[in-house]
Amino acid sequence: MWSLIATWKMAYDGVCQGAEMLKQGINVKDAVEKTVQIVEAEPSFTSVGFGGLPNEEGTIQLDGAFMDGATLRFGAVGAVENIASPVHLARLLSENEFNCQLVGKGAKKEAQRLGLQQIDLSTELSNSTYLKRKEEMNQELRSYNDHDTVGVVGLDQSGHLVAATSTSGLFMKKDGRVGDSPIIGSGFYADDEIGAAAATGVGEDIMKGCLSYEIVRLMKEGDSPQKAAEKAVFELDEKLKRRIGKAHSISVVCMNRFGEWGVGTNCPFAFVIADSNHEAKVYYAEPKNGNVFIREVQKEDRVD
Ligand code: ASP
Repeated sequence: MWSLIATWKMAYDGVCQGAEMLKQGINVKDAVEKTVQIVEAEPSFTSVGFGGLPNEEGTIQLDGAFMDGATLRFGAVGAVENIASPVHLARLLSENEFNCQLVGKGAKKEAQRLGLQQIDLSTELSNSTYLKRKEEMNQELRSYNDHDTVGVVGLDQSGHLVAATSTSGLFMKKDGRVGDSPIIGSGFYADDEIGAAAATGVGEDIMKGCLSYEIVRLMKEGDSPQKAAEKAVFELDEKLKRRIGKAHSISVVCMNRFGEWGVGTNCPFAFVIADSNHEAKVYYAEPKNGNVFIREVQKEDRVD
């Protein structure tokens, strides 16, 4: 049995390749990293990796993480510049006993030391989107909209789980802003003995609920992945509305150690799944009356 789940339709090609690797018996670390890297390398996906959307100063700063459920080792990078694959750097850092989470200049310096290529991450599309938005926003620059993280969770035939994330974070974010995606327990978590989860949505809200860890914890207490994901997202959504008057978009994908998956969301959300019994397919989840309704969609359909 193997299984792979990822956030957003943009992950479809990556999931197809990752699934092929898992099918061939390749380990989940390589398969999940490859799945994320395919999304990172595609310039038309403006919320991840190469061609990601810049911060308010026009600089592309990326976040990413990688967690090995077998050892609980994790690596994470925040606000790193000029690195095409934050997930690769995060995976390399996950091998360290110390210094496994680096940000900004330090992350870039370490990438250089490790021999990773430094590149200009901007594209015509990312530049023009930035200039257009800057003009629209006139004086008041605020981070909002146009963000999505690729979050991937996989299980291989030996029963190992991995969770990984990669994102350019919120468009027009402040210089140095770090979201949930490289924060263990919030944007990602993986434990071979229980399950794994990865999140997308507004990091400032996801972090308030330590969402990925909370979902793994609920699975440990006996909830199915679907129940755990729904419960964690809806409880956080309700709490935020009650305590601060609103909740931003929050979505999560998760899987238990048997390869059963679940999805929680407080907004319309597309995701991709493949497993040993099913080819890669895109699904669309919508919250309604305290439940999440999931339907299969064609990859050509106009869902994000
Ligand atoms: N969670 C990401 C962040 O806050 C953005 C997203 O997934 O949409 O940086």
